[in-house]
Amino acid sequence: APALPLPVVGRDVTVPLADGTSVRYAALDYAASAPALQRVWDDVADYVPFYGSVHRGAGHLSQISTRIYEEARQTVADFLDLRADDHLVFTRATTDSLNLLASCLPAGTEVYVFETEHHAALLPWERGAEAVHYLAAPTSPQEAVRLLDEALGARPAYRRERLVCVTGASNVTGEVWPIRELAETAHRHGARIVLDAAQLAPHRRVSVQELGVDWVALSGHKLYAPFGSGVLAGRSDWLTAARPYLAGGGATRAVRRDGEEVAVEWNEDLSRHEAGSPNVIGAHALAAACKALQEAGWDRLEAREAALVARLRDGLAAVPGVRLLSLFGGAAEGVGVLSFVVDGWDSGKLAAALSSRYGIGVRDGLFCAHPLTRRLVGDADAACGTGDGSGTAVRASFGAGTPDEHVDRLVAAVRELTA
Ligand code: PMP
Repeated sequence: APALPLPVVGRDVTVPLADGTSVRYAALDYAASAPALQRVWDDVADYVPFYGSVHRGAGHLSQISTRIYEEARQTVADFLDLRADDHLVFTRATTDSLNLLASCLPAGTEVYVFETEHHAALLPWERGAEAVHYLAAPTSPQEAVRLLDEALGARPAYRRERLVCVTGASNVTGEVWPIRELAETAHRHGARIVLDAAQLAPHRRVSVQELGVDWVALSGHKLYAPFGSGVLAGRSDWLTAARPYLAGGGATRAVRRDGEEVAVEWNEDLSRHEAGSPNVIGAHALAAACKALQEAGWDRLEAREAALVARLRDGLAAVPGVRLLSLFGGAAEGVGVLSFVVDGWDSGKLAAALSSRYGIGVRDGLFCAHPLTRRLVGDADAACGTGDGSGTAVRASFGAGTPDEHVDRLVAAVRELTA
């Protein structure tokens, strides 16, 4: 197998098993939260002694912290290959980023979103949009493009703004969506598009310019930087025209008592959406992860991950009764995220046994993408003639630092448990 690019923290953690022994933990839940890269941990440790307030204090440590924060913004902007006039807002994570954008929609905006999205990309729009159009689940990347084209074409825009929100890679199946084609389609109809890159960015290079999207949202804790930062980056016009996402210090130019009122002049740039003391460690950690991924090289990372995906996919497919979940049926490449059900097995019980008997950490449930997961589990149950439609799935996900042994242990455990 190719060498492991990028070591992560926590490879030596041992966990107790039900039989009283212990074993090295196999972290196979990267899609929920990935371990920290060693590089992230080291960069944060180097900075912590110099920690101070950002954009506020006059002291030396405040100056260093302000520089670290703004350098992080530039590093992440470079990582995402933003356009020269794009801007980047630090947020708490993808959910926060998409809610921020939803709060900045111009009056009358209509939103188009596939029903297969993660709830963070599915649910924020009802709050700020004039209308939300939910598109049916496509069964191939081409059908996704066609469905969007039809939906946008069926309702010409005139003077209304329209926004499409789409995932880069599914947090349930790992399948990669045809972002460039969807962006072209959106723009041809005069709509804008935001990319939910929460699951794509840890596994693939995300270039805003090459993909042609207007905004991108991502989470630091899924990108090997678990210190509470996220990003919304892209076009600034809707954001600078909107009310500040949070009202508070740092977002204002001037605040005056004016008769009975308090008069506020909000910042005109995007700092109007970063009220409150910034999360400088989170931003610094995210920048460290971006640098480490770039330096490791996407070709190497992708090749290593493709080998692991094939190993797990082939291994599980050979276990009787295992059904891998897929929306596009093999028509799209996938990142290191795979969900499956086992005939006659409750997914929650299976995941619990994987933990207590084998020290393997996976996730089970509907993965905050209820419409998609219900549909895929329902199809899988129907195919084997069991199931009452209430089923859930097990998800294994991995990335940088995952050794073959973790994948092999999972396959062997599923085979043994379900034999
Ligand atoms: N979108 C996708 C595709 C995700 O997988 C997730 C996290 N599971 C989110 C959005 C939300 O990210 P966060 O919980 O970090 O806000």
